[in-house]
Amino acid sequence: MPLGEVDYFLINKLATNLSSTLSISANIMQGVKIPPESYNIMRSQYYATVILQKLEIMKSSHKELMLGIMEEDLYAGEEHSVTSEIDRLTGCGVISLMRLRTDFYGLPENEKWVYPRLYKESFKIVARLMGMRACRNPHCILYYSEDMRDIDDKRLKLCDICQREFFKLV
Ligand SMILES: [Zn+2]
Repeated sequence: MPLGEVDYFLINKLATNLSSTLSISANIMQGVKIPPESYNIMRSQYYATVILQKLEIMKSSHKELMLGIMEEDLYAGEEHSVTSEIDRLTGCGVISLMRLRTDFYGLPENEKWVYPRLYKESFKIVARLMGMRACRNPHCILYYSEDMRDIDDKRLKLCDICQREFFKLV
């Protein structure tokens, strides 16, 4: 679900790739505005918990998983900022592209970096919503990572242990 103005090229590529690697049918929904009530004017950030609640309402069935993708910055709980947040109970997740983008760090914008980061983090969110656990192997795509260096160091696939767990799910 695109939230606000989001690069359609990235979302399209993501949906195609996640469909095949996670053996799911990923559909791109018609985008909606970022829920205005999730905006915290003092922090100039959006509160992930409120967005997750809104995404749950937009689900068409209990079994469906919903991933919101947005450009704007997110925070959750006590965290200063988060790249993503999930609610396993409702099957919803949200991810922000802002800190995945190289220009956030004062570097030239580079698609070569942004897409793999989006793919790895989205894969992790959807796999966790499907029931997989975060992995301690720093090379595994399910490694718990918030830091961009951690994300960049991860491979684009599951480690052998997670791969065996994943086969039991699908
Ligand atoms: Zn793993």
